[in-house]
Amino acid sequence: MRAYDVILKKRNGFELSEEEINYFISGIMDNSIPDYQASALLMAIYFKGLSKKETAQLTMAMVNSGQVLDLSPINGIKVDKHSTGGVGDKISLIVIPLVASAGVPVAKISGRGLGHTGGTIDKLEAISGFTTDLSIETFFNNVNKYKMAITGQTENITPADKKLYSLRDVTATVDSIPLIASSIMSKKIASGADAIVLDVKVGSGAFMKNMDEAVELAETMVDIGRALNRKTIAIVSDMDQPLGHEVGNANEVREAIDVLKGKGAEDETQVALTIASYMTILGGAFNAFDKAYEYLEKVIKSGDAVEYFRKLVSIQGGDPKVIDNPHLLPQAKNHIEIKSMEEGYVYSINAEKIGIAAMLLGAGRRKKNDPIDHAAGITLVKKVGHKVEKGDTICILHTNMSNWDEAYKVALNSFDISEAKKTPSPYIHKIIQ
Ligand code: URA
Repeated sequence: MRAYDVILKKRNGFELSEEEINYFISGIMDNSIPDYQASALLMAIYFKGLSKKETAQLTMAMVNSGQVLDLSPINGIKVDKHSTGGVGDKISLIVIPLVASAGVPVAKISGRGLGHTGGTIDKLEAISGFTTDLSIETFFNNVNKYKMAITGQTENITPADKKLYSLRDVTATVDSIPLIASSIMSKKIASGADAIVLDVKVGSGAFMKNMDEAVELAETMVDIGRALNRKTIAIVSDMDQPLGHEVGNANEVREAIDVLKGKGAEDETQVALTIASYMTILGGAFNAFDKAYEYLEKVIKSGDAVEYFRKLVSIQGGDPKVIDNPHLLPQAKNHIEIKSMEEGYVYSINAEKIGIAAMLLGAGRRKKNDPIDHAAGITLVKKVGHKVEKGDTICILHTNMSNWDEAYKVALNSFDISEAKKTPSPYIHKIIQ
């Protein structure tokens, strides 16, 4: 087989065979296929697409390029959750204890964030002492005993995806739906998931800016799950404004605790309960959405949900006192209130700009090994549809930096205040299963 012929075949719009896909992936791994040919094939895929069969085969080839975690020492159906990423997205922090409370094991393997704020691991590390560096034995034991544990991503998962992503990043081929879908699903499958709930975000703060693309991505991932025998459900949820009121790390943990105490923002509560409900259904605890949702609402009301979170914090070495005293979480030195210069209603909040402002304040990473300031972030006091008087605080910047001028400008510009009142978008747009 020659790489040239595989590229030509795809360039001319034909379906590649499994053998050709495997040849390509093993070729990029052993460097027998040079980057320029791999990039040419990626560009051909970008323009000609991949069939459902090819997408599933590419996913499996990437899974098999590295370590595949065997979660069989954990009893029960292991359901994983993935978000395509958004601003103020703290849903994983909320769903881990919720799903565990229904007896469904949550073996969460998460990454660090690159971008606006930290990832789930970074957020949890805002809690003093919390460790995500668990041995595989401790990870398995904790899930079996407490139904939940979270650990950092291992280095050896899907190396082919890492290599392809680095080529896509510099060849303008990131935004190809079959390439994104196979990239995400390969990591979930290699991490040992039996079933997967996907949260595909759509809107100004999401990877997918429009609904058609978000739905196509969600459907493509659900198709991959079906082809590879992993039950998969995708929700398409709104990211036209940040989720909840807090964007950052420590402040997001505080907000997640509020949701678990039943005092959370409506958008966050609804998205978290929906995802957790589908996870418990795929985990075999319930057979209908309404039953699952009702049960989890009761778990929040009874106070059990926050107790599960307290347990998670304790077993991972964190200080459980933060649950009753969230002010023990890292606090920034400076809190800068941004005031509205006009009167009206919040018409939109550009989520991406808020994310950029949070990163400028120290809450996120530009480069892989940049440090994160857990105390940095933004509180959105006003959200879409809220009435604003001239001089009202619309958001508060939290930072340890003394130079926050640029973040101030970006955050201020992310708000659009108008005379007309806009009804916020629904929190959940679609469920695809
Ligand atoms: N996230 C991923 O994991 N992979 C992609 O290709 C894009 C977003």
